[in-house]
Amino acid sequence: MEKIDIKSMEIDELTSFLETLGEPKFRAKQIFKWLHSGVTDFDKMSDIKISLREKLKELCYIADVEIIERYKSRLDETVKYLYKLYDGELIESVLMKYEHGYTVCISTQVGCRMGCSFCASGINGLKRNLTASEMLSQIMAAERDNDIRVSNVVMMGMGEPLDNFDNSVKFLKLVSNDNGMNIGLRHISLSTSGVVSGIKRLAEYNFPITLSISLHAPFNDIRSGMMKVNKKWNIEELLSACREYQSVTTRRISFEYALIEGVNDSAECARELARILKGIMCHVNLIPANPVKENTFKKPDKTKIIKFQKMLIDCGLNATVRRTLGSDIDASCGQLRSKFSKGGDTLC
Ligand code: SAH
Ligand code: SF4
Repeated sequence: MEKIDIKSMEIDELTSFLETLGEPKFRAKQIFKWLHSGVTDFDKMSDIKISLREKLKELCYIADVEIIERYKSRLDETVKYLYKLYDGELIESVLMKYEHGYTVCISTQVGCRMGCSFCASGINGLKRNLTASEMLSQIMAAERDNDIRVSNVVMMGMGEPLDNFDNSVKFLKLVSNDNGMNIGLRHISLSTSGVVSGIKRLAEYNFPITLSISLHAPFNDIRSGMMKVNKKWNIEELLSACREYQSVTTRRISFEYALIEGVNDSAECARELARILKGIMCHVNLIPANPVKENTFKKPDKTKIIKFQKMLIDCGLNATVRRTLGSDIDASCGQLRSKFSKGGDTLC
């Protein structure tokens, strides 16, 4: 019999499950608190009677991740982790220190099937989705390892969160639960390559998270060359979903734009980007593209990046260049793991 992933259960699910074992309602909250404080052993749940602990051990497992590699930046406090999952699969997370506290960048899938040309995470396709508990465990492991509390989370590691919709939504509910990690949804960003169906579904939840859209190009031909997802949902469809999302949530949207020399860094691109984003309450985050060993592209030099930013600002957009943390340890996701594994599903 397959064991139950108890750390992925919301309190009401846990309550119903415990009721089937003849346990009173209040037990659910007690067990939930233990699980979400990072406990990985039922025997550590000291206020739960031994017979129930034994029953839980028989029926359930507590998800966890094992730290395989830990790369600490010498330039700042960034730490990049390579984690092993119960089935031997590998994922990455990055812990970053900002003035306002610690942020963890988590993975949402093992690999990714979206196959963006510039990204290391998609090179070997998708192996499998992560469970909500495996997403939580990445944060818990970083907290444990550094004896800190994490205040912010970005779903920008390996994988496409909206291609793992149900688990990503469950993660958002669990991580923000005030009996659990209690990380406010306003402190969480979810990044998508532009899965329009997922953006529409996400709007229905009206979570006060920050939605980040990896736009990367304002013209369909350029974007389709970089991102296969653009062949399924083009820029017009994507921006229309963003407008719809904003009309429901009233939240500002963040557009990610990875600058690649000679591909998407022209003055024409800057002008068109400003034109298509008109009317959307947004922020543009320019990211100097991170070279990937499997690719030959380069990031533009600093002057060109600043010029691109200035053009956007002159057109009335709010645009910043992402600060690079941990540049000496390749702190963007996918690159580390791609050295270790092969093969998976791909889109198109
Ligand atoms: N799948 C989601 C979230 C994970 S990728 C998405 O695509 O949005 C997180 C961010 O890293 C995305 O904006 C993605 O486009 C960007 N990214 C991936 N590879 C990169 C690279 N080599 N250089 C710069 N940004 C990259
Ligand atoms: Fe997947 Fe995002 Fe990488 Fe594209 S950029 S392959 S969607 S992880």
